[in-house]
Amino acid sequence: MHKNSIPVSIIFTLILGLIFSHTFLYCEATTPQAFFDASNYSFDENGIFSLKGYWEYYPNSLLEPSDFANSDLDPKYITIPGELSAQQYNGEEFPAESYGTLRTVVKLKDSAALYGLKAKYLSSSNSIWINGKLLSTSGVVGTNKLEYTPKYIPSEIYFVPNNEYVEIVIQIANFHHRRIRLNEILLGKAEQIKRFTNLGIIKESIIFGSLILIAIYYGILYYFIQKREKASLYLALISLSTAIRGIIVNERVLIRLMPNISAKLMSKLGYLPVFILLPLISIYIKNLFKENENLISDYLCKYVIVFSIFLVALTSVKVYDMVFEYAQYLLIVNALYLIYILATKELFKKSKGYKIMIICGVVLLLTAVNDLLREFDIINSFELFSFGVVIFIAIQALFLAWEFNSSYIQVQSLANENKSMFEKIQELNQDLEKKIKERTTELQMLNKKLEQTSNLDPLTGLYNRRYFENRLSHEWERAYRSSLPISVIMIDIDCFKNYNDNYGHLQGDVCLQQVATEIQLNIQRSTDLVARYGGEEFIVLLPETEASGALVLAEKIRSSIENLRITHEYSHVSDVITVSLGINTVIVTNEIDRNDLIDKADKGLYLAKHNGRNRVEVLA
Ligand code: GH3
Ligand code: MG
Ligand code: MG
Repeated sequence: MHKNSIPVSIIFTLILGLIFSHTFLYCEATTPQAFFDASNYSFDENGIFSLKGYWEYYPNSLLEPSDFANSDLDPKYITIPGELSAQQYNGEEFPAESYGTLRTVVKLKDSAALYGLKAKYLSSSNSIWINGKLLSTSGVVGTNKLEYTPKYIPSEIYFVPNNEYVEIVIQIANFHHRRIRLNEILLGKAEQIKRFTNLGIIKESIIFGSLILIAIYYGILYYFIQKREKASLYLALISLSTAIRGIIVNERVLIRLMPNISAKLMSKLGYLPVFILLPLISIYIKNLFKENENLISDYLCKYVIVFSIFLVALTSVKVYDMVFEYAQYLLIVNALYLIYILATKELFKKSKGYKIMIICGVVLLLTAVNDLLREFDIINSFELFSFGVVIFIAIQALFLAWEFNSSYIQVQSLANENKSMFEKIQELNQDLEKKIKERTTELQMLNKKLEQTSNLDPLTGLYNRRYFENRLSHEWERAYRSSLPISVIMIDIDCFKNYNDNYGHLQGDVCLQQVATEIQLNIQRSTDLVARYGGEEFIVLLPETEASGALVLAEKIRSSIENLRITHEYSHVSDVITVSLGINTVIVTNEIDRNDLIDKADKGLYLAKHNGRNRVEVLA
């Protein structure tokens, strides 16, 4: 057996025990006597006196005080509080729809004081005489349904007995309810009864006000903020129905405020909450824990609520009171089942409010059971359920607030986390952007360098042959469009092999650099281009330059290199480094090929070599 099922079993046993003990509690075998001796009772010290015990009862006769002079009357004896219409009442049968007269005598010590008598509920209509005077009526007492009018209102009667014996005669009639219930009749000093009543009214009004406020609060919360959270809706409904029942029963605040309200409507409004409260609470608890598993009780509860609304709205109190008498046990079993589920299901155990909910459930159940047992006079206690609901709702309100708070905190911390994460990402992004920028400029620079180096000759720093070819094709097109002449000068160092062989390759390189620099220095126009064409050969491209201009420049180059006076003892031509130059100039047409320009310059160079070197030649 699961350890949690032990308290459940105990509660079960307790309830069943109380139900069965009903029979035994009311089997006292004393001689009936309808007389209360309060002559030694101190009202001031002991408070209100309950006229609990045997009363004379004259079924099927509406008697007035004067009728009791007649000694032929044969009273039955019944106990108050009690249910007169039980199938068998002390061996007698009193039908539910009937009428009759109650009578008792109370002996008092102080007959000159102002007393109060309070009858909370004596069947559905009654008239009360004290010492021969009719002092109170509730509804209209009659011998049949037509003469009779039900009314639910407590009677408070104030009187000065002027006699140490007080005779109380009460006519009762019921053709409305399926039971005749006679609640406790209280006797006290006038101010005690007044205070008792007022306190009851105040207590019930405060509970009503609190419950209505809670209902409005959770109703608004559900309607405007949290449609998905059904828990708020159920809490609002629980509060509302408890509030309504609270002002209809006991001191019947509603009738005191609206004396003309019909007894039928009152009864319906008073009963419906009793039907739907436990199912509502069951669904509420289930909803709160978001349990996905379907419980039998879920369906039961929902059907019970819908069924109850129709039942109470469409049938009379005779019908729905009977249904309730049987349904209540089902609802108690359901509530126990729910507590059992709460106590044992692992999923519930994991949830935060699990222990709180158990406490709430037990409080509610105990107060509900108390009221049920009290309603059927099995025990004599106070009505506690509305208190139970207030406690339940207060705890729930705290629980829901706590839930909201913890989810709020969770959302807040998630939002913070998000924010800091976002900031971090932004920071990283900025870093990355910066790095990318740096890398890009670095790359751009490298690219430029690469481009440059790929266009340059590493030894001399002049443009290389590849670049020269590109520029030539470009200038060739331009020259074609403009019909302007284009010239090239081919330059070759004289007897350079000998130089290399005698001064070494490294010295040869230095010489090449000197010659290259010197050629470059002779170039004035930005459109002119000097390139290293081969080993010790250079080429100068001169766009928009006529043959005469090219010749002048070539001669200038030749002499300036000779004037460098780089010693070359092994030259056949001079004792210094010299160059030979070949020139060619063309006006570009469709017939001429680009390579012809260079070929002819090369041929000019060959001619210069042939004619003795250190000279310029133009091929005719
Ligand atoms: P010519 O007067 O007929 O032009 O005689 P030459 O010796 O200059 O002719 P040749 O073409 O036979 O020799 C060219 C020499 O240039 C061969 C090689 O040793 C030298 N040379 C070519 N490129 C380089 C270079 O990059 N560095 C050095 N140091 N020497 C080079
Ligand atoms: Mg050569
Ligand atoms: Mg040479």
